[in-house]
Amino acid sequence: MTGFADRHIGPAPDERAALAEAIGTRPGLVMDEALPDAIRAAGGAAGDGAPMRADAGADAAERAGGGGGARDGRARRLPRHGVSEAQALAELRALAAENTVLTPMIGLGYSDAVTPAVIQRNVFENPSWYTAYTPYQPEISQGRLEALLNFQTVVSDLTGLPVAGASMLDEATAAAEAMLLARRAVRGQSDVFVVDADALPQTKAVLRVRAAAVGIEIVERDLAAGETLPDAPFGVLVQYPGASGRVSDPTPAIGAAHTAGAQAIVAADILALALLRSPGACGADIAVGSTQRFGVPLGFGGPHAGYMSVRQGLERQLPGRLVGVSVDADGRTAYRLALQTREQHIRRERATSNICTAQVLLAVMAAMYAVHHGPDGLRAIAVSVAGRAHRMAQALAAAGHAHVHAEFFDTVRVRVPGRAADVVANARDRGVLLHLADPDTVGISVGEATTDADIEAVLAAFGAEDGAGRDTAGSTALPPELRRDDEILAHPVFHEHRSETAMMRYLKRLADRDYALDRGMIPLGSCTMKLNAAATLQASSWAEFARIHPFAPVDSVAGHLELIDQLEGWLADITGYDAVSLQPNAGSQGEMAGLLAIRGYHASRGESGRDVCLIPSSAHGTNAASAVLAGMRVVVVACDERGDVDLADLRAKIDEHASGLGALMITYPSTHGVYEAGVLDITEAVHDAGGQVYIDGANLNALVGRATFGDLGGDVSHLNLHKTFAIPHGGGGPGVGPVAAKAHLAPFLPSHASAQRPRDGIGPVAAAPYGSPGILPITWAYIRMLGADGLAAATDAAVLNANYLASRLGEAFPILYRGERGRVAHECIVDLRPLRAETGVTVDDVAKRLVDYGFHAPTMSFPVAGTLMVEPTESEDRAELDRFADAMIAIRAEAAAVGAGEWPADDNPLVNAPHTAESLTREWAHPYSRAQAVFPAGPAQPAAKYWPPVARVDQAYGDRNLVCACPPPEAFV
Ligand SMILES: *Cc1c(COP(=O)(O)O)cnc(C)c1O
Repeated sequence: MTGFADRHIGPAPDERAALAEAIGTRPGLVMDEALPDAIRAAGGAAGDGAPMRADAGADAAERAGGGGGARDGRARRLPRHGVSEAQALAELRALAAENTVLTPMIGLGYSDAVTPAVIQRNVFENPSWYTAYTPYQPEISQGRLEALLNFQTVVSDLTGLPVAGASMLDEATAAAEAMLLARRAVRGQSDVFVVDADALPQTKAVLRVRAAAVGIEIVERDLAAGETLPDAPFGVLVQYPGASGRVSDPTPAIGAAHTAGAQAIVAADILALALLRSPGACGADIAVGSTQRFGVPLGFGGPHAGYMSVRQGLERQLPGRLVGVSVDADGRTAYRLALQTREQHIRRERATSNICTAQVLLAVMAAMYAVHHGPDGLRAIAVSVAGRAHRMAQALAAAGHAHVHAEFFDTVRVRVPGRAADVVANARDRGVLLHLADPDTVGISVGEATTDADIEAVLAAFGAEDGAGRDTAGSTALPPELRRDDEILAHPVFHEHRSETAMMRYLKRLADRDYALDRGMIPLGSCTMKLNAAATLQASSWAEFARIHPFAPVDSVAGHLELIDQLEGWLADITGYDAVSLQPNAGSQGEMAGLLAIRGYHASRGESGRDVCLIPSSAHGTNAASAVLAGMRVVVVACDERGDVDLADLRAKIDEHASGLGALMITYPSTHGVYEAGVLDITEAVHDAGGQVYIDGANLNALVGRATFGDLGGDVSHLNLHKTFAIPHGGGGPGVGPVAAKAHLAPFLPSHASAQRPRDGIGPVAAAPYGSPGILPITWAYIRMLGADGLAAATDAAVLNANYLASRLGEAFPILYRGERGRVAHECIVDLRPLRAETGVTVDDVAKRLVDYGFHAPTMSFPVAGTLMVEPTESEDRAELDRFADAMIAIRAEAAAVGAGEWPADDNPLVNAPHTAESLTREWAHPYSRAQAVFPAGPAQPAAKYWPPVARVDQAYGDRNLVCACPPPEAFV
């Protein structure tokens, strides 16, 4: 019987031997050849046992309850051996059983939502959606781009602001991004930002952490009570409705903000906006919030899509991704990412934010929830929620329990002097979770999933009778003058999919337009698009993991906490560090958290002046952007001709900044796809000068089980669970970006006031205490099913596959960088600049032509312009690697024909790529055949043909004519 490792690793053992033989070695030796001697000495290599701390004995389950060492007797040590899918799922079932699903009526930005089954099955559990990559290649991403445009249209309509982005990481970080946007927009001298006293507590806490890092002073004001603003703030954030449930008109606070010269931000409940006057109509400049309650499970805190929308004039300041409308080469309407020059991958330390991976899959779910229900359905749900809350409040009032605010949407604050804790405990006994606001006050929040039985349980917990106010169905406690009467979601897409048949087909139609891992390899360097095995994904759908509120009491979430604890232990073993926080919601957030830890550490030693962050020129754009957000000064270090950090320049920069040196950020293996031999010298030089070493862990797939960041001299790193550890990319999120550190930095990692297991730290970098626990079972299952041995085998296979591809592609193109013994790490850079000089064919032409051959393009022009970076991962087998290499070599020959003048420079299969089906139906005047256009790899291909729905998309047109909401149907005729 074969194990999970044999299903996860594409090439079977005999095939691995053949791949190794093809590159002149043996499978067991590839890793030895690739790793520099210094690293092998520091850590380990194939054959001599994995260098990770791993449990040498029995597996975790066998030790459960054994009482040895760990807090409650379970192993936190990485198990040596993997277990079967069935066994891992059985263990997850046992963990799930330790959680108690209670009706979550806590509120505070998290609502008990109903996921329509048609969305659960056809989006959340559909690999065509969840295995897709970020839509940088628009021609193969039209489906998810349309879905995201729907999301932007929903947000824009409901918030009443014209431009909405394609998702933020959560509500609290969206508020932080809005604060920074306001500061950029005002460009004044003010450092003062005003926060509503009735803002969500986690939003306030995240704002405080982010403000402190960049010298912003936060001032709290009770805005609904009309408290006057401090002198000349640059921004004001109003919560609408307030965390207490109170609904009041934000217009006066917005007016006061404008009078003071500040930008007005409204953090709004997206469902309430179906009924309430929009932030835009109230004069807001920016709106932020969460779309969780649009059909996305709570997941103990995430993942959910945050949102942001802005008024006209701020769109070029918007953080994160923005989908826009453009045209393709045939003049057809086509979607693509707009205004990318704002983003970190282009603007680096001058970017509008560090966001890279966002929350695309969850944004798609929320958008489809609106498509599924339409405006009337959304209003009906909002009325039902508000009506239920109103009836409940009336029944409580009739029993003598007054509510604090007369006007509310879904959340009622009830005064029970001295008895609040008792009431919360009573409710808990009846299966309902309420919010203990203070010793005298209980908060009760109604969600779409709340039933009459839940309301009865709440009333019983107060000792109130049901029945009172039952005749008020349809009425709400919303102020009539704040009801909105403008049209929302008028676009046909929100009206045409009422039947499930129509909805199912719409989702299928969009999915069919996209190229995801379910079609073929996505060889994206740095992104590690590996298998997302079905067995790892199942538990995320279970109610015991999904329907859990992030602030649920500790004894109801023992399973989640145990899973988190084990995973943190395993990741510490894998990285060679001592402490891990799973809170950051993406790699970028882990980077910022890691740098904040470094800053906190320096400050604790009286060295807060150490604020210089050295970053090699080859670094990912998020590194520089994160350093700025952590309040650091970026100093770029050069790379030498071999692609390594230029040691002489590094030493010069270290000397230059001496006592100001805070940190070096370095990626290992490097973004050039090479295990740099000099890394130990580099980390030592930084330590000698009093700096800390941040190792960007995005390339950990080349290291797991073979060396640790601790071995290399790292102090802190982020990992990307959505790269190395099998969480699907989801078309651009969700992600999890744990930050892992050595013991001296542990006291400065993220913490959270509502954490069920509190720890010391600098405060939160995400809304929820553990970030996005809803998807942690994926990584847990991945590691559990592979074990230390399987993880190391996967690393070896990833490096073997990359070296095989480097060898085959090396026949046709220069491979830009290699290590000491000519081996690459887990990816390689194919240099297309000589090809362009010779033939005029560009990296874009090659990327688009790959679509005709049935491939997703590799990473383009990162980290070197004019190149492609190829990362096959361990999951692809030899047939797929060969199909890709064959395609690249065939494209090389096509380019040669262009260079030789056989095809004109402006009419050949490369410049015209990709070719649509429709192009074949027109008169064919090209100097190559239709078959050459669409079946270039020959007759074997037609059965599996991927047809791009649009031809090459004009990027510049869309930026000149910015449209970021659903275009009218006439645009498509
Ligand atoms: C992907 C990546 C990041 C950013 O991670 P996100 O999860 O997308 O925020 C940082 N550094 C490198 C080298 C990466 O490849």
